[in-house]
Amino acid sequence: MPSFALHGIGVSGGIAIGRAQLVSHATLEVAHYAVLAADVAAEVVRFDNAVHEVQSELEALHAAMTAGDAPAEFGAFLDVHWMILNDATLSEVPKKIIAEQRCNAEWALTQQMNVLVEQFDQIEDAYLRERKADVVQVVERILKRLLGKPGTVAPPGAEHHTILVAHDLSPADVIQFKQHRYAAFLTDLGGVTSHTAIVARSIAVPAVVATHNGRQLIRENELLIVDGTNNVVIVNPDKSVLTEYRLKQSEIDLERQKLKRLKTKPATTIDGVRIELQANIELPEDLEQVRESGATGIGLFRSEFLFLNRDGLPTEEEQFTAYRRVAEGMDGLPVTIRTFDLGADKQKEGLDGLARVAPNPALGLRAVRFCLAEPRLFLTQLRAILRASHYGKVRILVPMLASVSEIDQTMAMIEQAKETLREQGVPFDSGIEVGGMIEIPAAALAINSFLKKLDFVSIGTNDLIQYTLAVDRSDDAVSHLYDPLHPAVLKLLAMAIGAANKSGKPIAVCGEMAGESRLTRLLLGMGLRNFSMHPAHLLNVKQRVLTSDVGEAKPVVDRMRRTDDPARLAALVDRLNG
Ligand code: PEP
Ligand code: MG
Repeated sequence: MPSFALHGIGVSGGIAIGRAQLVSHATLEVAHYAVLAADVAAEVVRFDNAVHEVQSELEALHAAMTAGDAPAEFGAFLDVHWMILNDATLSEVPKKIIAEQRCNAEWALTQQMNVLVEQFDQIEDAYLRERKADVVQVVERILKRLLGKPGTVAPPGAEHHTILVAHDLSPADVIQFKQHRYAAFLTDLGGVTSHTAIVARSIAVPAVVATHNGRQLIRENELLIVDGTNNVVIVNPDKSVLTEYRLKQSEIDLERQKLKRLKTKPATTIDGVRIELQANIELPEDLEQVRESGATGIGLFRSEFLFLNRDGLPTEEEQFTAYRRVAEGMDGLPVTIRTFDLGADKQKEGLDGLARVAPNPALGLRAVRFCLAEPRLFLTQLRAILRASHYGKVRILVPMLASVSEIDQTMAMIEQAKETLREQGVPFDSGIEVGGMIEIPAAALAINSFLKKLDFVSIGTNDLIQYTLAVDRSDDAVSHLYDPLHPAVLKLLAMAIGAANKSGKPIAVCGEMAGESRLTRLLLGMGLRNFSMHPAHLLNVKQRVLTSDVGEAKPVVDRMRRTDDPARLAALVDRLNG
């Protein structure tokens, strides 16, 4: 097998070595595990039984239909399914795959389905091409039968060495991987601060996005090295490359172990400036990782992830339980719950009857705009957050503010939610702090008026950069233009941090810039004292803080603010880190 390299964008550092598992949407939830040689025959029987059960199911449906007065096309539709089911490509080939790859029946079947679907895609006749949907439906029927009778062999931790290869993944897909322990993943599409990439980071596995045609070139089960630090994926590496990477991998592991010693150490610079390092989370399950990182609070809880991968909307009670769990889990440390930031790349299907998210979602009804357009949904969330505030130090953070009137409307909603709780005698923290995210250039430019109305602010650099440079953060075609060091971005950051410090109101950065240790001294030099990032990055940033001198960084950063020359800016960042 030829060895080759694919280049992309590393969104999560580190090295993983493992076998490729090609992912398509229909297979996302299908387990893949090895079957012992002695169990192959039993696995084949399990597959055969499932096929027979679906045959009986189709026969029964057919009989029921001919007895009743169902339209004739239903019968024809069942006939097509019957033919597909009994074709050797579906009823026989998966058995060969089980035997050859020693894998479970579900996995063999979905692999064969992918092959068939690709063949259908190449058919010119539109009618025949559409029949691929029937193939998928028949496969789903068999899968349901198989899943009802799972194999006797438990997945023996095979995921640890499995690398997911996908064309594209949504944040909702990636969040599902938190329950598994995959070694790494790569996608053809994706930008560096897309929510898909952000979730990948939170799983703390190496990931490379924007490989363009990786999904097409890589075959199932091929050996891969994913080097998230150097933006490269090596397919079928030869022995010497493999040895070299194994060595690098153990060096990284050793480094990680060393970093763990910093967990309880306060983040204080050489010249004695105390820095708050807090964590970003998506779900209450992330708390364990937060505790391991030694974070001094939650600076950003992306609550909208409670919406994804589920039917319907989360009720007030469900939300309250989730928020309370985090509030109690942090034991008195601050927990900043951002109100829903739905829209853009975090779409929720099935919000029927609610306000429509426009086709240009990043500039549309997203985040606070969406919440204000849906007051019932917003009130439910606000009540749930307020109720949780009785159990810890909870703060509210409002995303994507563009104008002061949005703050006024939000404050009125919070007051309304408080009022209903008071009437019902439900306890909450009446002094709960309310902060706003600075993610739109207008908010950075008009920050003084925002600061007058808010208790704290937090800069979402992912969006601030996207909106300042007009670069879609999730589109890899423009990711070379996505530049945190662009002079305009630096000016906005320095302006916002300076204004907040002057007003005495706390300011944090909770975008991905906060977790990039290369930029820690730049932000320190601008006057930032509070960083919130994925827990996986926290100790690395702490190490940088411990070796930084704010007094030394400041004049270099001041010089950066006086230049618009990108080369000079890059040189000054190097000087900061030198
Ligand atoms: C940001 O925009 O920087 C941010 C922290 O919010 P999100 O990434 O969820 O949009
Ligand atoms: Mg944002």
